Amino acid sequence: MKVILAKKAGFCMGVRRAVETTLETVQQSDEKIATFGPLIHNPQVLDLLKERGVDVLSEIPEQLSGVVIVRAHGVPPEQKASLQAAGAQVKDATCPRVMKVQAIIKKHKKNKCFTVIIGDKNHAEVIGLMGYAEPDVAIVSTRADIDNLAISGPYIIVSQTTQDNDSFHELSSLITDRFSGGKVFNTICDSTHRRQDEVRSLCDQVEAVVVVGGKSSANTKRLAEIAENKGRPVFLVETEAEIDAAQLSCFETVGVTAGASTPTWMINRVMRTLEAIPARGEGGVCRFGRRLIWSLLASNTYVAAGGGALALALARIITGHFSWSAFAIAFGYLFAMHNINRFSSEPSRRFNNPLLEKFAHRYGSLLLSISYLLLVAVGLLLWPRGTVPFALFIAMALLGIFYRVPIFPTTLVRIFKIKRLKEIPGSKTFLVALAWAMVTVLLPNWGMGVPAPVLLTLLGLVLVLVYVRNALFDVFDVQGDRIVGKETLPVCIGEGKTLIFLSYLLYALLVAGIVLPWTVLAPPAMVFFLSGVIYLLYITKAYQRGLLSPSPRLEFLLETSLYLVAAALLLGSSLFT
Ligand code: SF4
Repeated sequence: MKVILAKKAGFCMGVRRAVETTLETVQQSDEKIATFGPLIHNPQVLDLLKERGVDVLSEIPEQLSGVVIVRAHGVPPEQKASLQAAGAQVKDATCPRVMKVQAIIKKHKKNKCFTVIIGDKNHAEVIGLMGYAEPDVAIVSTRADIDNLAISGPYIIVSQTTQDNDSFHELSSLITDRFSGGKVFNTICDSTHRRQDEVRSLCDQVEAVVVVGGKSSANTKRLAEIAENKGRPVFLVETEAEIDAAQLSCFETVGVTAGASTPTWMINRVMRTLEAIPARGEGGVCRFGRRLIWSLLASNTYVAAGGGALALALARIITGHFSWSAFAIAFGYLFAMHNINRFSSEPSRRFNNPLLEKFAHRYGSLLLSISYLLLVAVGLLLWPRGTVPFALFIAMALLGIFYRVPIFPTTLVRIFKIKRLKEIPGSKTFLVALAWAMVTVLLPNWGMGVPAPVLLTLLGLVLVLVYVRNALFDVFDVQGDRIVGKETLPVCIGEGKTLIFLSYLLYALLVAGIVLPWTVLAPPAMVFFLSGVIYLLYITKAYQRGLLSPSPRLEFLLETSLYLVAAALLLGSSLFT
């Protein structure tokens, strides 16, 4: 089925900031952590936070300890003061846009202005705003509320940030017509309009719309209403488990949007589940092809064969021969290590990819058995090549197997608070790339008379290319990784900065790919390596601009980069020999 994801689906800036603040606090603090009120209107996120030890405070006790996080809606100033007075260390995650409304009210209150807030009187944000204006404040939700208004001096009108634009204009005009001396501040957050406008245009491209979000979230329900008013069948789901595959399979194209409190990993889960549903009229061949691709991806056969093809092409360029043992070494090692790491315990998979979780449950043991057999076979292939490549291979295999096992001595654990290699921030992305470079460049060509500078140059080029590939996968999985406390590069420095860093790495690789083939450090055919660099640059930029979103299709596109480089290098080798 073709699935189109709305670009603005999911966490808005304020909610993302509040969730990230909470998760960072969980990672950094050993103290008790609570949010003052539920952080967002999403039961799944709240359950996960609870699992990570984050409590929800509904009222302020006399005595408090630990950290209390103020959510994106903000709180009245006296509540913040009471939390501090009770002994809590307060972390304010109020959305900057809500803070701006609070600041407007505060400034005008000093000038003795009355405040009218257009919004829902029971909404947490409105209750927080009222705290800055009291006692000279009134809430207007409907036309009837205007009849009860009594204003006798200068006043301001502000709105709840998630207020509907039309009703704000209507109500504010009625108030200013009735009372003079008013100043109107339209403080509606543009993320709300943009999300709603996008659903309207999405409806023109799809036959049905799936809205992902908490059933009690007002902005999620509003998105569903807009799609319904546009005449599209709407499926409002909280999780992928609520998707009705039978009903949805009568559509060819489905749109997906999500409320401001829906995390990306939940949207990804829904996307993956929808993409796996056969579309109306899809033939048996297409279905078989889709299932085959999915199985090759899930079992790591596709990625390992891509690594094998790359090793084969590099060996051909370096030595001038087709070396099937180069393919076998790379394929065997990569298949084994990817499966051993994927099918050993990996909690973030539960959030990022539930379909893979099911696959692991079914075929995990078989794939693990094949993996260990392949490791033995690769060892046997390398044994006759000498002690160094064999010892390197054993070291790499042990590193991969013990990556998750506590191996550091107690003294180091006490100083660095790190028990396992996987706990070193960003280590996995780099170590996996290094292992790739070793099995595709160094081990297959060891002892073949290739000058060491050439081997090292190619090793460096492959290392950077694979590092970018791995880091892009980390970017797709960032929210699930953050929830389980995995310290990948995007978790440590943020998704945006990671994408910028990866673009710079690719530009550097682009320059190296142009210059090096003209020197003695790389064979001339290595200029074809640029195809993979340009391809990854395209994926990075498209993802940055929101043109691509995490899905099996994107994973397939990313893994295909390896085949593209291998094919281009083989073409180059035949042109230059
Ligand atoms: S909707 Fe806008 S104002 Fe409200 S939390 Fe999100 S970004 Fe902030």
